[in-house]
Amino acid sequence: MKKNDRILALQKAAEAMVRGDFSPDIPIGDDEIGHLGKSLKALSDYLQRQSERTQSLYQIMRECNLNLHLIDVLNHIFESFKEHLSYDRITLALLESEGSKLKIHWSRACYQHLVLNIGQSIPMSDKALQTILNSQEMLIIDDLESHLEEHSSSRLVQAILQEGIHSCLICPLHAAEKVLGFIFFSNRKKNVFKDSNLHQDLPLQIASQLSALIEKAQLYQGIKQNKQLIAQKKYLEQRVTHDVLTGLLNRMAIFDILHKQIQRAKRGGYGIAIIMIDIDHFKNINDTYGHLAGDTVLCEIANRLTQSARVHEYIGRYGGEEFLAIISPYDQDGALKAAERLRNAVACRPIQVDHSFIPVTISLGIAIDSLPDTLDTNLLLRRADEALYSAKHKGRNRVEISPQNTAERSRIGNHD
Ligand code: GH3
Ligand code: MG
Ligand code: MG
Repeated sequence: MKKNDRILALQKAAEAMVRGDFSPDIPIGDDEIGHLGKSLKALSDYLQRQSERTQSLYQIMRECNLNLHLIDVLNHIFESFKEHLSYDRITLALLESEGSKLKIHWSRACYQHLVLNIGQSIPMSDKALQTILNSQEMLIIDDLESHLEEHSSSRLVQAILQEGIHSCLICPLHAAEKVLGFIFFSNRKKNVFKDSNLHQDLPLQIASQLSALIEKAQLYQGIKQNKQLIAQKKYLEQRVTHDVLTGLLNRMAIFDILHKQIQRAKRGGYGIAIIMIDIDHFKNINDTYGHLAGDTVLCEIANRLTQSARVHEYIGRYGGEEFLAIISPYDQDGALKAAERLRNAVACRPIQVDHSFIPVTISLGIAIDSLPDTLDTNLLLRRADEALYSAKHKGRNRVEISPQNTAERSRIGNHD
């Protein structure tokens, strides 16, 4: 090729590179123009590598933003940067238990027989890791053997040397001020990271993308765990306060509410009304249709009572086939209406169990105490029980109300 043509070819190659074509034809040789060609060729190789690197980084950034799994991104990193970072193994280790433990989360190598495997813990007391933790900068150990001579106690270095690794580059992964873990690039040869014309920002850029993805994943995990904990707590609370069969408040919970309502009534200076409820001839239902059918009836009654209760009325399972309703604050008329509403909710239509339609009724006993000063839980319950007994005695499927206690009667008498 003539001198002028060679210069023209070099000029065209340079122009091609400006346009982003990094592998143009470049004439090389041993004269001055040939040397210029060699330099241009080196430049084009360098630009080609840079461009591939940028593309790989861009791809990883995209994957991180698309919420791809961490493992997929790590595999992609392993495959994409071999040419640029001279590793034959990459390891990701994450801090656990408030930073006291460092666990290998992922690892991949170009060779078999790894000494440090996934799930293994690395002592956080290790000098090399402490140095990175303090400086939050990446660390290159280019000759692990001589490093071990200086830090003979380093179990981490001992373990990786055992695997045949002789140099490594360790990058911290951090989100804000917090270190999440480390990414280790390692090689079985010495001096690969310092000597290889390494672009120091590449591992840092990879680490930064990984950190963002890990932080996102951990946040997500945290939210998920939190939701699970809340659901678990709710379930346990429900188990403690609710009856397993009917789903109503259990005896302890309805007593607790009664106690609190009485305290409130005392503070507020108003009265309280309760209704004791008992299923009529329930034993007959069990005897006729079986215990399981009895359970279904019990649940349906609980359901009907709940459905017909108003917002500030509480209903609980007091005993086997007995319920307690708290309807405070209520006067006599209001309490009677509420009890009628509950009675009718059960009696209004038979309960279907399989192919049978079982007519069921309940009896109800009301006790009202409108004197906050003398309000007493046991007395109130006893009076409601007596009224219920009276309802049973008078034929069932009815409401009876306990006569006011002596103090009330005398107070009402005084007013009259
Ligand atoms: P009364 O009208 O006088 O209340 O008559 P009764 O038959 O309802 O009353 P009794 O006290 O004689 O019987 C209550 C029955 O309720 C006996 C018991 O086996 C049944 N029972 C209690 N708890 C449950 C339960 O959880 N499931 C079922 N199927 N039956 C229950
Ligand atoms: Mg009973
Ligand atoms: Mg009964």
